[in-house]
Amino acid sequence: MKLRPSTIRARLTLWYVALLGLILLAFSSILYVTLAHGLYQQLDDGLSVAAQEAATALNNDNGVLTLQSPEADVEVNTLRERGLMVRIIDLDGHVLDSAGPLRDLPVPPAGLAAVKKQMPHFDTVVLARDTTLVRVLSVPYLEHGKVTAVLETALTLSAVHATLRQLMFILAFVIPATLGVAILGGLFLANRALSPIDRITRAAQRIGANDLGQRLNLGLPDDEVGRLARTFDGMLARLEDAFRRQQQFTADASHELRTPLAIMKGELGVALSRNRKGDEYRVVLDDMEEEVDRMTVLVEDMLFLARSDNGMPALEVEVTDLAAVLRGVMEQVTAMADQGGIRLSMEVHDELLVEADGAKLVRLFLNLLENALKYTASGGHVAVRMTRCGEMARVAIEDTGAGIPANHLPHIFDRFYRADPARSGAVRGAGIGLAIARWIAQVHGGRIEVVSEPGVGSTFTVYLPLVLTVGGTGV
Ligand code: ADP
Repeated sequence: MKLRPSTIRARLTLWYVALLGLILLAFSSILYVTLAHGLYQQLDDGLSVAAQEAATALNNDNGVLTLQSPEADVEVNTLRERGLMVRIIDLDGHVLDSAGPLRDLPVPPAGLAAVKKQMPHFDTVVLARDTTLVRVLSVPYLEHGKVTAVLETALTLSAVHATLRQLMFILAFVIPATLGVAILGGLFLANRALSPIDRITRAAQRIGANDLGQRLNLGLPDDEVGRLARTFDGMLARLEDAFRRQQQFTADASHELRTPLAIMKGELGVALSRNRKGDEYRVVLDDMEEEVDRMTVLVEDMLFLARSDNGMPALEVEVTDLAAVLRGVMEQVTAMADQGGIRLSMEVHDELLVEADGAKLVRLFLNLLENALKYTASGGHVAVRMTRCGEMARVAIEDTGAGIPANHLPHIFDRFYRADPARSGAVRGAGIGLAIARWIAQVHGGRIEVVSEPGVGSTFTVYLPLVLTVGGTGV
């Protein structure tokens, strides 16, 4: 077992041992006091019984009091054998007769005084020849109702003290031994309990910023420490995911910006390869302006998504007429539809009000409509239908375009995801239009659903919560 001064181990053990020490000390004190009290009580009871026995062994020969000889009297003999002293004293304190040891015991004056008032009296007296303590009981001897003498029984406290000393000796050995075992046991237990934490620490130290894919995987039981390790693994998984997405975002963003830059670089190279006329430069500059516009939109989109990652944006929410928003968007894409030879139609059945940021809603529907027009060939049809669906407004954007293969459908809302780039190669885009659209729908408490069949067309349906009156109808 390793005895390291690492803090929690040491502190735990210290607290544990200190607490145990206190408990043992309190327990020992109570044990000692209770035992001592019991022993003293027992001794006093013995003296009382002895005094009663001795009283029966008194001789009163015409007023002269003596104890019967030990040979003649069984009582006095047994008392003597038990180490008890019995004596009879007159009221002036003179010893008239005595039996047993401790004959030179001084007469306790308090006992004499109490006896004269017919009261028995216990006293502890120091034996003159050494420091032995003796317990003395003085009881009155009555003749015709009057106290005429004092009967004393006495016994040394040596036996009681020997027993108490023995107890002290045992405790003095047992308490430190117990504490010693507790220290070792405490350290052992603390080590056992904390060693998984050491494993977690070592494993966590091995995991650097670049290998977030690693896990602790310590296989600990489902206790506090086990849950800590699993929580740590869960946190690593989330970190790895966030880290990976950020890397992906940066990589995709750079990739997307490279295309327009490469086009511009190519055009510049061609333009500068020889001297040209003013008109020719104008054509190149027009092309480049187009690319710069595209890049501006792309950078703004990326900024938009990056901001959305930093929590909820400040929405400028107001009660908005959804039909008006849709009409505005339709106007913006009419030219695009005409250019592509696509028929555009809109059906608005109800006047529906939503609580929304108007500019963001324009962005949402513009992204969906531009997609519908981008991926629909000339001669196709794009229809916008707005209806009410319970407490939601439903806007369906339906096209007769290329459609989306089923394996791509779950991913088209991911950032920078472009379904079948070879097929849509001619159609330019960065793959973030739908990510932005979904995000806008979500921050407004809504959602986007998509149904698509390759070769037939796609329908993107946006659901947005309506502004409701108390009665539950649209305002
Ligand atoms: P992009 O800039 O590529 O249009 P989006 O995020 O808007 O990016 O769309 C992601 C992908 O989903 C597109 O690349 C395209 O493959 C597919 N898609 C989106 N809308 C349509 C649609 N109306 N018809 C067919 N495919 C679509």
